[in-house]
This record gives sequence, structure tokens and C-alpha cells, in this order.
Amino acid sequence: MESTPAIVLRTREFGESDKIVTVLSVAAGKFSGIAKGAKRSQRRFPGTLEVFSHVLLEYRRRPHAELAFLERASLLHPWPRILDSLERFTAASHVVELADKMTVESEIGDDLYGVVAATLARINAGEPGPATLRLFELAALNASGYRPELVHCRGCRRPLASDRGPIRLVGSLGGLLCSLCRAQEEGGMLLSAAALECLGLLQTTVGRLVARGNGAGPVFDPFGEEVVVAGRLLPRVAREVATALDVLLTPHLRGRLRSLELLGPVLRGSFRETEPA
Ligand SMILES: [Zn+2]
Repeated sequence: MESTPAIVLRTREFGESDKIVTVLSVAAGKFSGIAKGAKRSQRRFPGTLEVFSHVLLEYRRRPHAELAFLERASLLHPWPRILDSLERFTAASHVVELADKMTVESEIGDDLYGVVAATLARINAGEPGPATLRLFELAALNASGYRPELVHCRGCRRPLASDRGPIRLVGSLGGLLCSLCRAQEEGGMLLSAAALECLGLLQTTVGRLVARGNGAGPVFDPFGEEVVVAGRLLPRVAREVATALDVLLTPHLRGRLRSLELLGPVLRGSFRETEPA
């Protein structure tokens, strides 16, 4: 029997009483397993196999089998307030869906697990805003090895801060093309200087990830300076920065994000705290 801290990303009913559950775990990355009798057994699964649950999972792997056997799941951290408001629920749904679509099964993603755990804890602690989600998205990119290059042009390596003309953000390049190089590509989006500055601030903030060992592997907290970031994400820039993160994430996702399509307005900057006072 093996055991690992894990976050439930997805579940579905299977037959009369079983559940198939996909988790992001410390020990084995993302994997799916079957929980026999999950809908009946309060002893082995006391309401713990729900999306967003942060659990200590006991499981058995079978050689060459697609599904593990989930034996028991006990709650590590209850995050009851995630269901308190539409904003929290939407944000948390975005977090688990993005983590799911950014990973393939059995690819070890220790850092991404830490980012997802820290983000769900943050959403539980208080109403999330666009800054919460943008910090999460950039931290998730960095943790998955897709840290974008925001300082130098991907074409000529010139520093972008001194560029006066429009520059182009290209997802497949994981970075930007300066005003001289931007004609090389047609995709992506033109980015304003204000949005580039905001992305730089986000990157600096996420770059100061602090490890807080809690016995469940390193947990990263990208939200230490969230208030500073939120102060700079004015509505016009917030929407542009949200689109920029979407452009950067899209090449690394398996499938479109349902959370963005269905709940885009909530996630993209219509949160109350970003409106001018
Ligand atoms: Zn260039």
C-alpha cells in the first residue's frame, strides 16, 4: 500500500457505488483511481472524494493497469469556504481544471501540486480577485517548466523595457517579440507597456516563492505580495493581462478551459474590488 497527499481534480460516478477519481499527488503526479464502494463507505471515504478535497490518499497500483485502487482518503485540510460564493467556487474550479489540463498522468509535478494547494488555501481564506488568479496562472506556468521570458525579445534579445512601439506576445514562443521583430509572427496579441509592466510585477512576485514545509512536501505561497499586485491591476490592464496569461497557457493545455468559456467574465476582471472606487 502506498500513501500520498493529493488534491482531487475530478470525479465521476461508476456503477452503483464506485467512483473514479483523478488526483494531483505529491508522490505520483496526476493519476486516476477507482474507489470501490466510495458512495457507501463513510469509514474509508468520509466525504473526502470530492473535487477540491485535500487528502491523504492510500492506494494500490497495479502493474500496467490504467486505474489505481483507492483504499482510503482522509482529509488533510478542510477548505469549507470555497463553496461560499460564486467567485470562490469559480476561481477554485479554474485552478483544478487548469492543473488537470496542464498535466498528463504519471508525470511528477511536485511544484504544481504545491502551487495548487497554496491557491486553494488562499481562495478558502478570502474572496479571490483577478490578482489571485493571475498569480496562480503564472506560478503554474513556472512550476510546470514553462516560465515565460518577459525581459528580452525572443527574436533579437533586446531588452523590452526600453521599447517604445507595440510588442507582440506569442504563446508558442513563451515570450515576446519587440517592435522590430514583431512582424515575424502573426499570432498572439499586441501588448501595451502597462500590461508588460504588470506581467513583470507578477513574475517578480511569483519568483519570490517561499517554501513552507508542512510535512506534506514543500508548499509554495505565491500570494505574499498579492495586495501590491491587486493595486496595479486596474480593470483595463486586468483584462489585457488575463488575455496575455491565456495566450501563454494555451499551447500547454490539453483542450480549451471550460472555466474560461463559461465563467470568463467573473474570472477576467469583473470582481468588485478591481472597479474604481
Ligand atoms: Zn527583437
